Amino acid sequence: MPERRFFADVGRYFDRAAAFVNYPPGLLAQVRHCNSIYRFDFPVRRRDGNIEVVRAWRAEHSHHKLPVKGGIRYSPLVDEDEVMALAALMTYKCAIVDVPYGGAKGAVCIDTRQHAEEEIERVTRRYAYELISKNFMGPAVDVPAPDLGTGAREMAWIADTYQAVRGDQIDALGCVTGKPLSQGGIAGRGEATGRGLFYVLREVCTDTEEMARRGLSTGLDGKRIAVQGLGKVGYWVAQLCYEAGARIVAIADISGTVTDPRGIAPDALREHVAATGGVAGFPGGAVHDSPAAALEADCDVLIPAAVESQLRADNASRVQARIVLEGANGPTTPEADAIFQAAGVLVIPDVYANAGGVIVSYFEWLKNLSHVRFGRLERRYQERADNRLLDVIESATGTTLSSDDRGRIVTPISELTVVNSGLEETMISAYHRIRETMRTVNGVDDLRTAAFHLAIDRVAEAYVQRGVFP
Ligand code: NAD
Repeated sequence: MPERRFFADVGRYFDRAAAFVNYPPGLLAQVRHCNSIYRFDFPVRRRDGNIEVVRAWRAEHSHHKLPVKGGIRYSPLVDEDEVMALAALMTYKCAIVDVPYGGAKGAVCIDTRQHAEEEIERVTRRYAYELISKNFMGPAVDVPAPDLGTGAREMAWIADTYQAVRGDQIDALGCVTGKPLSQGGIAGRGEATGRGLFYVLREVCTDTEEMARRGLSTGLDGKRIAVQGLGKVGYWVAQLCYEAGARIVAIADISGTVTDPRGIAPDALREHVAATGGVAGFPGGAVHDSPAAALEADCDVLIPAAVESQLRADNASRVQARIVLEGANGPTTPEADAIFQAAGVLVIPDVYANAGGVIVSYFEWLKNLSHVRFGRLERRYQERADNRLLDVIESATGTTLSSDDRGRIVTPISELTVVNSGLEETMISAYHRIRETMRTVNGVDDLRTAAFHLAIDRVAEAYVQRGVFP
């Protein structure tokens, strides 16, 4: 694979949209630049007694709003350029979905498959301690979350480390999101990015104009979908689409690809991978060694949800999908993007499409700051109010509702229902803002440029409102 300058690629998308806004060059440069990067090396004792020096980063791309927010990635391939690019995407993403954060990203250069759990815990706690001591973490400063190679377990260690150092801060739990529910997390965070992608695709599939242009029928039902990545993002979007009636015709993880034109059950494949360590031997489909085979599968919708730079100049023209829904960050290079535009493929860009995680992280942070779970105050009040209303309707109409009908109407609020409805509302309204930008800004004719346009506008306005730029 040719070497990719990821931050420069994000800059190219930025510049494409910046051509359609009307701000002074200095202000645009401020929006585009990465504000601060902390790079550090630290020693970790391995189980065999040896010491390994580990390299790590935290990039804070934009301080136009505080705290800054972004995931932590554990990968042996990560470098500073990638961390800066991912931090920049976070700034634009938060602006697009109207979440009040600047963008950040963190990374540790380790291969988690080569480390025991206790070693990963030592790495995580040391990484968190470094960030805390340099003021690169805190509920009002910089709030990390999970990304590739990390999850609720790592976030719990980070929260615990923060509380050990700054336990007297009343909002200490808001120092990180994506925590387990029992440690200040929020219902629905684990599947949030996949669920957000599902809401986006479902909404896009109702768009008769966009579907007709791609020769597709409306609705998700029966759509043939290929997914690359079976992790936190890929699994959930695949499973939710499957449950909604779509046919998952290909799924890849790092060990290979399974294809089956009759459809694959994502939960069965995930169980198989958990039990055997890979996709090989999965019954009911053809197994290919290459994880890239999913990208070229015969399908209507392709969801790259693994790592960056998967769709490039050398393979983009072999993609058969008419819609590319970017679950991963940076899966499409600008060269591949141009090929898709020319071929009329609808690309729903990462900078918007995978924002579900940060949206629900925002809800988690609000929950941590308010020290109360969503739905607790109003649950019984709402239930009684609904029942009173039904009582009045029954006596006014002389009818009696069955307990089943009553149960369907009086549904007690749970944290999960509140979270999912907030996520759905945010994803769908942002889609319509992006579509509106595409329709109204002369010369903008793709969703990525429209999304970047919206982001630049919002970040630049925040600087103007702060009086930084007249
Ligand atoms: P994860 O670690 O949970 O899962 C990654 C999956 O990708 C695994 O199934 C792995 O086997 C597969 N994979 C890795 N390298 C691959 C390759 N070369 N080819 C095919 N498959 C490969 O990670 P995740 O959290 O699901 O993140 C996936 C992508 O989504 C990343 O780009 C991440 O930045 C992005 N993202 C994640 C979140 C989140 O909330 N987790 C939010 C926004 C964006």
